[in-house]
Amino acid sequence: MKAEIISIGSELTSGQNLDTNSQWLSRRLGEMGIAVGWHTTLADDLDDNIAAFRIAGGRSRLVLISGGLGPTQDDLTREALAQMAGVELVSDPESFRQIEAMFARRNRAMPERNRVQAQFPLGSAPIRNDHGTAPGVWLQHAGCTFVAMPGVPAEMYAMFEEQVRPRLEKLGLSGGVLVQRKINTFGWGESAVEEKLFDITRRGHVPEVGITASDAVISLRIFGRGASLELATLQIAPVENIILDRLGNIVFGFGDEELRDVVVRLLAEKRQSLSVAEGVTGGLVAQQLCRVPGAGRWFRGAIVAYDNRIKLEMMAVSQALIDEHGAVSAAVAEAMAVACRTRFRTDLAVSTVGIAGPDGGSADKPVGTVHVGLAWSGGVDSQSFSWGGTRAHIQSRTAKMALNRVRLLLVGA
Ligand code: AMP
Ligand code: MG
Repeated sequence: MKAEIISIGSELTSGQNLDTNSQWLSRRLGEMGIAVGWHTTLADDLDDNIAAFRIAGGRSRLVLISGGLGPTQDDLTREALAQMAGVELVSDPESFRQIEAMFARRNRAMPERNRVQAQFPLGSAPIRNDHGTAPGVWLQHAGCTFVAMPGVPAEMYAMFEEQVRPRLEKLGLSGGVLVQRKINTFGWGESAVEEKLFDITRRGHVPEVGITASDAVISLRIFGRGASLELATLQIAPVENIILDRLGNIVFGFGDEELRDVVVRLLAEKRQSLSVAEGVTGGLVAQQLCRVPGAGRWFRGAIVAYDNRIKLEMMAVSQALIDEHGAVSAAVAEAMAVACRTRFRTDLAVSTVGIAGPDGGSADKPVGTVHVGLAWSGGVDSQSFSWGGTRAHIQSRTAKMALNRVRLLLVGA
């Protein structure tokens, strides 16, 4: 059983607006264990809509439609559904009363055109809209369930959650429950991660394991399926254990957890204060930390020591050190971390230096070369890397590298 999603509106096909409703609906159906086989996007054209509904009804048992339920002449979904089903449009008094009431609540006269929103293909059922004027349409035709919802995303979301999802669950279309577990890692590339997990990421593996990369964070998603929540969850556990076991401390969190969240949580757990000295990242590390509620109890502050003069005067880096190693060096990153820790009087200090490009690279220090320094009560060390990508990529990935270095120290790695 595959479902189809149809988005209607010339503003979508012209490229003016992006069709986000299809993405949203696919995710919701996925959670319900209903696979989506097709996304179709259509302009406001009656014949094209009728044809698309016929095609969709012929290959799917569930068709979710958004858009074209407004009161204006380009809103054709009701008409197209009726013509596809070969039935008349009939007025529904209860829906009409609700539309009138909606206008009354807003102290506005109801325009005559809104009457059409109370018209439904004969044999279909209205779906209440508590957040706008356009009711949805629930139509069974030739073995397929058509569900038409408003195009305005907020109205569509509410109608789906409040009215459509419960009815779909009763239809029993879903192949059970889908549970996802997302495991987030930092430190290895996508292919290195995949190599470690080749046997469980192959196509057809049960449960399915997918890999996605987003700005140097590599995430694994395990999709557990089962007749009940318990069974679907049960499927995930053994594979999750394999992944945790093989990837070790590159795993930093689960679900929506970001490196910054984990670092702030660990700082609190270990009661360690942190300060930051930033070159190449220009304040990004501090900004990431500040985004976490409650960060201020452990994160004390940062200095953006961008120019060498600031590194010399404010971070006690010596001219001799810069002359010998260059400003972009492990030695300078370490000196900055040590000075920062002393000046800010924190338990830990992390630093960044590097070449973000596009200019300033050389043969032995190409664009993307970065060093992250870390100072703690027991000493100082640094980590080097050579990133690819744009200036923005290099900066944001180096900021994550700095957060990850702090994380690894705090977990005792
Ligand atoms: P409609 O229900 O066709 O009157 O659509 C009303 C408004 O909702 C449009 O002007 C768009 O701004 C928005 N909209 C409609 N369909 C979509 C969609 N598939 N994704 C995102 N926004 C949409
Ligand atoms: Mg429209």
